[in-house]
Amino acid sequence: MDQNVHHDAVIVGAGFGGMGAAIQLKRMGLTDIAILEREDALGGTWHVNRYPGLAVDIPSVSYSYSFEPNPYWSRLFAPGAELERYAGHVADKYDLRRHMRFGAVVEGARWDEDAQRWVVSVEGGEQITARYLLTATGFLSQPHLPDIPGIESFEGKVVHTTAWDDSYDLTGRRAAIIGTGATAVQLIPEVARRVAELTVYQRTPIYVVPKVDVPIPGPVQKLFARIPLAQRAARAVSGSVLELLMVSAVLHFKQAKFLNKAAAAAARAHLRAQVGDAELRRKLTPDYDFGCKRPTFSNSYYRTFTRPHVRLETGTIERIEPNAIVTADGSRTEIDTLILATGFNLWDVNFPAIEVIGREGRNLGKWWRDNRFQAYEGVSVPRFPNFLSLASPYSYSGLSYFTTIESQMAHMDRLFGELRRRGADVFEVTEQANAEFLDRMTAKLGDSVFYGGSCQTAHSYYFNQHGEAAILRPTSTVNAFREAHSFPLDDYEMRSYAGAR
Ligand code: NAP
Repeated sequence: MDQNVHHDAVIVGAGFGGMGAAIQLKRMGLTDIAILEREDALGGTWHVNRYPGLAVDIPSVSYSYSFEPNPYWSRLFAPGAELERYAGHVADKYDLRRHMRFGAVVEGARWDEDAQRWVVSVEGGEQITARYLLTATGFLSQPHLPDIPGIESFEGKVVHTTAWDDSYDLTGRRAAIIGTGATAVQLIPEVARRVAELTVYQRTPIYVVPKVDVPIPGPVQKLFARIPLAQRAARAVSGSVLELLMVSAVLHFKQAKFLNKAAAAAARAHLRAQVGDAELRRKLTPDYDFGCKRPTFSNSYYRTFTRPHVRLETGTIERIEPNAIVTADGSRTEIDTLILATGFNLWDVNFPAIEVIGREGRNLGKWWRDNRFQAYEGVSVPRFPNFLSLASPYSYSGLSYFTTIESQMAHMDRLFGELRRRGADVFEVTEQANAEFLDRMTAKLGDSVFYGGSCQTAHSYYFNQHGEAAILRPTSTVNAFREAHSFPLDDYEMRSYAGAR
């Protein structure tokens, strides 16, 4: 007798990606869904991250589901807490909470060829089976903790930005922040406001452009609520600007180098306007092309380094002692608080975030690492039947994650619609379709800043251990949506479970 709990579909992850997938499955009539979430609440990155200064850095009218606009964003770039509240609102409105299980740490999943279903292993020994498996584990969800000699001996407070401790008072502290990525850019001005001394350890400078952020006044919120078309128009404008930036300055670098150079010049002008000291400016100036790693927006980041109690340290960290950080030139900085803004590990532990074993024992992580990172249309992989990997190589489309989510929802709609039309319930992308997609993406990347620009010194997480920039889909979002709505149906083999017996 089957002791396992069985569902039509298991979704791993209750962030915006997992919720979008659940909404889509429900629209298609698949209602027996379990959403397994390792954290204690929904919201994904917007639940986990709550460091001071956290805000979205894509305009909020674009950073939301197009079918569920929120007229009440308080600012052009909403603070993180509003994003978490919006996630809660979506979960309520689309009745997703009853499908969610929190604290459910999925360890792995294995395709059972005999039963034609997935067996999902949850920490603690439980097994759940499902006809369909969708992983929505995010791109930036496995924190990177630096392996610096002596770090375990540090006797003060250590905190990674994904595990912020609200109860820890920074007032009067001697703090260090390691890292100068997009997270640190938001955090550094806030920490500087509270501590007595701050040393920022920078390995690679980041491009920062001004943030045109304004509160959205009440009357405009009311207008958006009363006339949704007005907000849709605002979304269209913001989406077009993002698309122009991404497609022309980054993806079509070879053809539109001047736009890329203009973006870099804007960041340098911003730096000049905020920092008078030429030596400090030199240290903060990137020596790689704009877009090789993710640039960001801030009006206060550069200026913070001019404050008397803030110091930028560019020497290599040699070791950490119980109360200090020592750099290679022997300089020793005493600290009592160590903040790790050291980002995430994508390529070793996040792709995929759980062990996934498909048909004929193919181990997804091992296969990706031994061969190349790849996924047809950024969602499906040969020998992984009934599996959609939503955080995949070449899946991230455009600058707002919601364009990725919604193009994947469109892909699901077409795929599951055809399954139903054929009376089938098992799908698998063909090796050939997958190989052709990978070839096409690789060829397109040739025009991008990643392969055509100078990225060697960028230390960008866009690049994997094979030197490939395999996260971003190197096409316009228009193309991503068009293909999601029109991919050749023969790119999938479809069969019925009964027929497979
Ligand atoms: P990140 O961009 O990967 O930055 C990590 C930083 O830590 C880098 O400066 C890195 O230096 C440094 N670092 C790592 N290990 C180190 C070591 N052992 N010694 C010295 N320095 C070390 O991570 P992040 O800042 O958390 O941002 C990740 C992504 O999250 C962003 O690119 C963005 O996509 C997203 N994000 C979005 C928002 C938003 O929308 N609101 C806000 C924050 C972040 P190297 O560069 O030299 O490796």
